[in-house]
Amino acid sequence: MIASFESNDRDPAVRIRIGRCVYCGSTRYREKDDRRLGDEHVIPESLGGNLILEQAACESCERKINLFEQSIMKTVLYAPRVHLGIRRKKRKRGEETISLDATVDGKEVKISLPLKRTPLMLFFMTMDSPGILIGRPADIPSFNGAWVKPFLEDGPRMPAGLQGMATPALDTHKFMQFLAKIAHCYAMSVVGEELKPLLPEIILSDPAPPPNFSLIGGPGTTHPGDATVNLHELTLSWQTSNGVEYAIVGIRMFAKLGAPIYRVIAGHR
Ligand SMILES: [Zn+2]
Repeated sequence: MIASFESNDRDPAVRIRIGRCVYCGSTRYREKDDRRLGDEHVIPESLGGNLILEQAACESCERKINLFEQSIMKTVLYAPRVHLGIRRKKRKRGEETISLDATVDGKEVKISLPLKRTPLMLFFMTMDSPGILIGRPADIPSFNGAWVKPFLEDGPRMPAGLQGMATPALDTHKFMQFLAKIAHCYAMSVVGEELKPLLPEIILSDPAPPPNFSLIGGPGTTHPGDATVNLHELTLSWQTSNGVEYAIVGIRMFAKLGAPIYRVIAGHR
């Protein structure tokens, strides 16, 4: 049996009531008052995610998730968000800019460039299968390539004297936490209490832990798959390895750009 969820920007929200923190199990938002638990978007709202777990996160876990989620949203996923116009309101005046480290007239400076005229790209690492499914030792990295989608709408308009610039870097440690959080939330929404989760320790680690290649990987092929009509796609399937039945979440953000699929082991029965 495969569960799946497809989302497109401005699709109506789909809400699933949970009633306890999906990360630590707490039934209170915080100790000192009776404010109800926070809602949790499986894929962030600012990326067009519309699957919401209601009353599903305590204050302490929320804060830990923000540490990596905000960082990913402001760096690698910022340009595609703006270029695809996801959940953007029309700006009253001026155009969206991005702040970059640059070299201008031999000096290292921070510059602000108009985003739609700056050559940027969406960059995803591609990965082999999660190690646990194929018996690969945990310490062997499974990155096997990269997938790149360049964005440039109106032709570059670089300031005079600009000698070089650094586009936002992909922090692979935080990116793995980001994938783990999406997989965990989706698995909790589909499987619920029956799931023995494996990802909360990775998700709640601060600082971000080194990538866990046993649990987080790709489809096991180097081909990213054809583009589809959806913005994002999530699936949940089961696979038995060494007598254990694992819940595997397939995550494909930006499916309509042809981006690669990640597969994350969310837990077992
Ligand atoms: Zn919590």
